[in-house]
Amino acid sequence: MEMLGSGEADLRRAGEALAAGRLVVIPTETVYGLGADAFNPGAVARVFEAKARPSFDPLIVHIASFDSIEKVARTVPLLARRLAEALWPGPLTLVLPKCPELPDIVSSGLDTVAIRFPSHPLARKIIEYSGTAIAAPSANPFGYISPTTAAHVARSLGDKVDFIVDGGPCAVGVESTVLDVSGEGLPTLLRPGGMPLERIREIAGEVLLPKMRGGPVASPGQLKSHYAPHTKLFLYDWMTSPDSIRIDKSARSAVIVFDALRSRAFKEVSLFDRVCVLSGRGDMREAAFRLFALLHELDAEGFDAIYAERVPEEGLGRAINDRLWRASRK
Ligand code: AMP
Ligand code: MG
Repeated sequence: MEMLGSGEADLRRAGEALAAGRLVVIPTETVYGLGADAFNPGAVARVFEAKARPSFDPLIVHIASFDSIEKVARTVPLLARRLAEALWPGPLTLVLPKCPELPDIVSSGLDTVAIRFPSHPLARKIIEYSGTAIAAPSANPFGYISPTTAAHVARSLGDKVDFIVDGGPCAVGVESTVLDVSGEGLPTLLRPGGMPLERIREIAGEVLLPKMRGGPVASPGQLKSHYAPHTKLFLYDWMTSPDSIRIDKSARSAVIVFDALRSRAFKEVSLFDRVCVLSGRGDMREAAFRLFALLHELDAEGFDAIYAERVPEEGLGRAINDRLWRASRK
């Protein structure tokens, strides 16, 4: 594996390597992505292999212009076009009918494909230099916490990829929101993420929310256990049921709380060996930005358990709660 920087020559190398069928890790505004040429089934197969990702979990195809959507989607329904015009580039993935030229391995055999136009300037340049569309899942071993720095990727997948482009920490810090707009009916939220549902509703009006917790798997990334650290993580709802938390006092444990206010009001706080506040001033964007880096850090410290509280279910809070729930022991 070779580390690349953000200079023009390095970005061109990354793009050319992708076009030649190599695996390149690219920074995006959500998390780092493990990229391959979406039209090269052999390269895409190596992505599944590197991540040990089951073949039924489809990848997101990344493009660097509005026009490129026509290269991967068979048709673009009006609502999808309106959403793309309003919210792209950005952390929103649209599921659309798949064009027949795109290899089936990318979409795990589905007749739809997930498409995203990232806003990260380095991602956009790399995709442009590649001259193709880039299939890229998060650059982590399947089921583990997504990476938000190049160092996270180097540690877990360093020996399995050809290049990692270091673009610093990811500004959004959680994966994209996935929205199904492939049919005639109402758009359906498949995964909460970096694009707040409130923003989508401003453009789309009503959005269907399938039963996210414990329901049938509407979208493969919605597996019950996902985004998980190796350390046991327990999710609790301190706001609504402060007594629901049962702490093993003999264990070395860390607690993650949302804001400074709650860390002060939480009387059991002294029982923990480390108290981590996601955002002192209660800023949801800062909380999302810090979440995965914090989980990586706590996982490396070898605690016996991590306790995390649910954050308010608004804006990026939906994505944070979803990831914490999937990371937790059920
Ligand atoms: P990741 O790239 O790791 O963020 O995961 C991509 C996620 O996008 C998958 O796990 C699915 O949840 C979702 N996805 C990708 N393609 C489709 C599709 N055609 N239909 C429904 N969901 C999809
Ligand atoms: Mg992933």
